[in-house]
Amino acid sequence: MTIETGRPWKNWGRSESSTPAFVSRPTSVDEVIETVRFARERGLTVRPVGASHSFTGIAATDGVQIDVSAIDGLIAVDGNMVTLGAGTHLHQLPELLAPYGLALQNMGDINVQTLAGATSTGTHGTGSAFGGLATQIRAVTLVTAAGELLHVSRTENAELLPAAVLGLGALGILVAMQIECVQAFVLHAVERPESAATVLAEWEQRIAEHDHFEFYSWPHAELVSTKTNTRMPADTPRKPLGPVQEWFDNRVMANTVFGASLEMLRVVPAMIPPMNRLSVKLEANREFSDYSWDVFSTVRTTRFREMEYALPVELVPAALTAIHDLIAAKGWRISFPIEVRASAADDLWLSTGHGRATGYIAAHRFWKDDPTEYFREIEAIMRHHEGRPHWGKMHGRTADDLRPAYPRFDDFLAVRDRLDPDRLFANPYLSRVLGA
Ligand SMILES: Cc1cc2nc3c(=O)[nH]c(=O)nc-3n(C[C@H](O)[C@H](O)[C@H](O)COP(=O)(O)OP(=O)(O)OC[C@H]3O[C@@H](n4cnc5c(N)ncnc54)[C@H](O)[C@@H]3O)c2cc1C
Repeated sequence: MTIETGRPWKNWGRSESSTPAFVSRPTSVDEVIETVRFARERGLTVRPVGASHSFTGIAATDGVQIDVSAIDGLIAVDGNMVTLGAGTHLHQLPELLAPYGLALQNMGDINVQTLAGATSTGTHGTGSAFGGLATQIRAVTLVTAAGELLHVSRTENAELLPAAVLGLGALGILVAMQIECVQAFVLHAVERPESAATVLAEWEQRIAEHDHFEFYSWPHAELVSTKTNTRMPADTPRKPLGPVQEWFDNRVMANTVFGASLEMLRVVPAMIPPMNRLSVKLEANREFSDYSWDVFSTVRTTRFREMEYALPVELVPAALTAIHDLIAAKGWRISFPIEVRASAADDLWLSTGHGRATGYIAAHRFWKDDPTEYFREIEAIMRHHEGRPHWGKMHGRTADDLRPAYPRFDDFLAVRDRLDPDRLFANPYLSRVLGA
C-alpha cells in the first residue's frame, strides 16, 4: 500500500488548502482498512478526498488524506441497479454503463466529481421531479472508524441509509455504492436569452412543465439565459452540436473568452454592466439534442468561488429579487451570473432538499475577486428565506444555526456518535457544521 508523506493540497476553487501529514492511495478495500489503522495508531485524523471540487474545507485535513479514486469501476449490475467503486468519477459512467443501456437519472453541471464526493455533499442538478444524486443511492459499503466494513441497504442496517448516502464524509470511508440508474435517454436542449421579469413570474410553472429547467440571472441585465431540457427516448435521432460549434460555444466563449473578460473587468469594473448585458445576448442561443450526460455536464476551466443556497421553491423569485436589489443598493459590479435551479423533496437527513420542494440560488465570483462581503450579504438574504447552504459550497453557518433547518439533524449526530465516537474523521469544517 502507498502511504506517503503529504504534500500541500488545494481545492479547485482555490478557496481552501491544507497540508496532510500523510496521503494514502489505496487500491483495495483492505488497504482502506489498513489506512484507518495506520491513522489510529498515530493518533491522526483521516479525511477522504474525491476530486477536490468542494469550495468548502469539507475535505481538508492535516491528518491522513485518503484518496479512493483507484477504488473505481463496475462491481455488479443487476437490472438497473449498478454497484460501483466509490472512487468512480462521474465522467467514467457513460462508458461503464453503455453495455447496459443505462444512465444516471439526473446530473449537475460538471462530471469530474467522484461518486462518493458528489453524493456526500448533496450534489444536485435541476428538475422539480428529481432529487439530487444521493437520492438514487440504494446501498453503500463503508469502512468505519473501527476499521470494519459496514454494509447499509434497505435490508442491512437500513436505519442508517438516510444518513450514510449523504454523510459529508463524517461517518466512514465509502468504498462501494449501489445506484439506481434509468434507461439511457436523449435530452432535447433549448437555450435562450429571455426576459428576467417573465421568467421570474413563470418560475413555478416553468419548472413544473419542463423536465429540467434552469436559468442564469445576470446582474445589471434585463435578460436571463434559460436552459430547458426535455427527456426523450434513447432511440430519438440526435442532433448534437457540431464539433466546431461545441468547441466555440463551450470552450472558447464559455471559458476562454469569459475568463479573459473577467480578468479585463477587474481592471475596468465600470464595464461590467454593459458586458453582462452583451454576454446574456451572446450566451448560447441554440437548440440541440444529445445523450443526457453530454447535455447535463459542461467543462469549466475558468476558476470561481461559489455559494449556493437551497430554499422553498416558491421563495426563489423573492430571494433572487432581493439579491439584485442588494447589488443595486451597494453599487457593486458583479461579473458572474447567478444560477437558479430546482429539485424534488427528499427524505435524506442532511439533504438540502429534505422535506420540501426546493429551489437553488447559486452566487459566483471570479476566483481572483474577494467574495467575502458579497457572499455574507447574500447569506443574510438566504437565512431570511429559510435557506440551507450546499455542504460543498462556501457559507458561514454553524451547527447551532443549522440544527433548526434540518428536522433530522440530531438523528444524524447520533449516527455520527455511534460510528465515529472518537472523531477519527473530524476536521475543522465538520466541527463547525456538526459540532465537535
Ligand atoms: C466547477 C464546479 C461545478 C459544480 N457544479 C455543481 C452542480 O452542478 N451541482 C452541485 O450540487 N454541486 C456542484 N459542485 C459542487 C461539487 O459537486 C461538490 O462539492 C462535490 O462534493 C465535489 O465532489 P468531489 O469528488 O470533488 O469531492 P470532494 O470535494 O473531494 O469531497 C467532498 C466530500 O466528500 C467526501 N468524500 C470523498 N470521498 C469519500 C469517500 N470515499 N467516502 C466518504 N466521503 C468521501 C469528502 O470527505 C468531503 O467531505 C460544483 C463544483 C465545482 C468546482
